[in-house]
Amino acid sequence: MSTSPRSQAVKRDWGHDETGCTVLHIDMDAFYASCEIARHPELKGKPVIIGTGNRAVVSAASYEARAYGINSAMAVATARRKCPQGIYLPVDMAYYRATSRKIFALIATVTDQIEQVSVDEAYVNVASALLLWHEPTAIARWIRATVHDRFNVTCSVGIATNKLIAKLASTNAKPDGMLLVPASRNAEFIQMLPLRSLPGVGPASAERFRRWGVETVAQLADLSESELVQITGSKIHAHDLLLAAQGRDERKVTPHTPEKSIGAERTFMADTTDVQTVSNLLRRSSEEVAASLRTRGLVARTVTTKLRFDDLSYATKALTLTEPLDSAAVIFPTARKLLFAMLHMAPDVTELPRAVRLAGVSTSGLSPSKTTALQPALDFDVNDEAPALTATPDNGTASADTVRRRQEGSAKGSRTGSTRATTTADLERLRTAEKTLDSIRTRYGKGSIHLGLG
Ligand SMILES: [Mg+2]
Repeated sequence: MSTSPRSQAVKRDWGHDETGCTVLHIDMDAFYASCEIARHPELKGKPVIIGTGNRAVVSAASYEARAYGINSAMAVATARRKCPQGIYLPVDMAYYRATSRKIFALIATVTDQIEQVSVDEAYVNVASALLLWHEPTAIARWIRATVHDRFNVTCSVGIATNKLIAKLASTNAKPDGMLLVPASRNAEFIQMLPLRSLPGVGPASAERFRRWGVETVAQLADLSESELVQITGSKIHAHDLLLAAQGRDERKVTPHTPEKSIGAERTFMADTTDVQTVSNLLRRSSEEVAASLRTRGLVARTVTTKLRFDDLSYATKALTLTEPLDSAAVIFPTARKLLFAMLHMAPDVTELPRAVRLAGVSTSGLSPSKTTALQPALDFDVNDEAPALTATPDNGTASADTVRRRQEGSAKGSRTGSTRATTTADLERLRTAEKTLDSIRTRYGKGSIHLGLG
């Protein structure tokens, strides 16, 4: 959900000359909340907030909820104070993704020139579709009406000659609006917007500009390039800002589906600095992610560890592996290493330097496992200890009858020193073990069994 600054003043008729306006920016309105309202029509008109648990963060909010001052990345506890009567629902990413896929399949009937930037947002180059449709606004109108009719989700569309203006137009057309900016009005349009509307101008640089007396795009456009270099400290950034302030943008719409990722994350009951607690959660997340990859027949190349700190800021660190994987036995040790690397910690540290509120693991660089050769690198450091199967009762608590079964043959791959070479056979055994766990979980529930990974 976008928190980009908007301006009521630009939400007006800019003229009807559509010549060259072949870029559409399509953005679903309050997408997660709209998806929930679509399947629970009784929630329509109510403040709906996606995100539950007092320690979680708001993922999306309906416009009714935003009227209470609720926005994304706000702590759910804060949101509950602002709007106690709100309807708070858990995130159901699988459902939002499924809806998104159907919406983009519909848009693809107009043209295949779609650059999807997120689950609910895309640039579309409609140039080739104009033979049939004649006017970009006709396409935008049809998409808006059809998405609404079929999915009960509204979207806003910006129509312009380039991506920069199209995106700002859709942002300012929200909710459920459409805004055409004719070619001749690009500069005038963008210069009416707050400085923060320009790409690359965040709170810190806005503050730097303010100290120089620059608070609007129009004021920035009046600066010389050398003044801009002085303020930003970067020739490239200064040049880009000058072009943007004139409404110019050379970027092409590049057909693309976003790098999909599969991840799992959880908020702790209380902020923690305990490495073991965070590590346990990373292990659990790694198992969930690996199971999800296998269920979907995918392998991943990149592992990312994510932390959200007690001040709600967050950090991620990623590692791309030499070979694709779908096994928690590889994902978890990688995620754990990334945790240590991210916080510059020595391997024997037991306390994190900062309190952590949420931790998670995600994988990206996905491809179908059928068509991807799974040949684990021989030098991959899985763990010193061979993974063991640890079964726990369904309530997820450890118990005395915990079963520990050491993986047979794991010692064969051992080497002296802290790292251990993993043979293809080892990895294959682990994958088989994890697949067995998948079927146990399917029968007895998600929390029924876990890999004992270090
Ligand atoms: Mg959106």
